[in-house]
Amino acid sequence: MKKLEMLLFLCLFSLFILTLYGENKENITVEKITDNVFKIQFTAPFMTNSYVFSTDEGLILIDTGFADSADEYLQKIEKFSKKVLYVLTTHFHDDHLGAHSKFRGKSTIIAHSNVIKHLCNYYSLPPMKHSSAPDLTFEEEMILYVSGKQIIIKHLQPGDTDSGLSVYIPSEKVLLTGDIIGPENFPYCDINGGGSVKGMLANYQELINNYPDDTIYLSGHGKPYTKTELINYSNELDEHYVICTKLIKGGMDLDGLKTAPELQKFEHLTKIFAGLKMRWLTAILNEMRANPLESINKPVTKKIANSGIDAAIEEYKHLKTSDATKYNFSENELNVLGYELLKRKMITEAVKIFELNAAEFPESWNAYDSLAEAYLNAGDNENAIKFYSKSLELNPENNNAKQQIEKLKKNPD
Ligand SMILES: [Zn+2]
Repeated sequence: MKKLEMLLFLCLFSLFILTLYGENKENITVEKITDNVFKIQFTAPFMTNSYVFSTDEGLILIDTGFADSADEYLQKIEKFSKKVLYVLTTHFHDDHLGAHSKFRGKSTIIAHSNVIKHLCNYYSLPPMKHSSAPDLTFEEEMILYVSGKQIIIKHLQPGDTDSGLSVYIPSEKVLLTGDIIGPENFPYCDINGGGSVKGMLANYQELINNYPDDTIYLSGHGKPYTKTELINYSNELDEHYVICTKLIKGGMDLDGLKTAPELQKFEHLTKIFAGLKMRWLTAILNEMRANPLESINKPVTKKIANSGIDAAIEEYKHLKTSDATKYNFSENELNVLGYELLKRKMITEAVKIFELNAAEFPESWNAYDSLAEAYLNAGDNENAIKFYSKSLELNPENNNAKQQIEKLKKNPD
């Protein structure tokens, strides 16, 4: 399993997708928003929007959906029969930059510089070349002029991530906002990606105050918002935030917030993506900590770079006893680090990190699933089968493990 995070997403969204979309519906649909702006909506693995601005000179694409849908997406774009001039990326998440490889060398791919930071760098590990990295980055603002029309691209303050941007097209009166605005749901605040609840709430004020009243606000996952709808949404999240902070100051923890009667009236904001409520609450709690926990992978990767993997593992064990309240030692930390090492082809190091995670969390089926995947990458099929089997023992529903074992037994080499 790639990451706990992805699994969580797939579980949460599958029910939503099954409910909303019939079996025969196309995975990608095109909808006209204004005369020249079109929404391209993906329905699987979960509902995501990308947009096209069509001009006389060519197309400007804003986000490109999932890598798995890149070919199907390209077919839709080809139907416009125009050259793709620019590909703009609203932030670094996989569901927004999946088709970059299709435009590499043909169009200019633009994003905020933090997109490169998240895709290519991971603490002290050697930077890597990422197939979705942009060609051109900017810091604060960039204005494109195409066919005499302006496209104003601005970096937003850290909200859903620290790489978010807005794209305003005055001639169309549309403002594209990436994942800043949730789809009539709590928005997704990715704290590991530099996100911030306070920043998110401040971004709504910026989007409301600085654009005309008849602006159409377009989001990465939901329906278009009018300004009035955005004001209502923003007010509701402000009120939720004030109540939460009061409860937290009174000593309430995450479990308490989850079911607090004072927050029940906001439950309708969980109807589409239910899991985002917990992320939102976790982000609020984390921001209120005097000293937010740091990732344990920060010192561990430094040690890997300077002294090798064995010294890094010793460092992890040492810090777990000496600095237990400074660092985040959750299971997901080492899991993420293991995959970062795999991406860099540091296979021996990855195997050792996944081994450490499985030893630290021996009841976790996901830790064994990841360890098995690392052995698969190392060409050690015997250990891959052994740990996929262990994972399956802990979670008989782990279909990935089932399939991998079957495949490995059929083709042992
Ligand atoms: Zn998204």
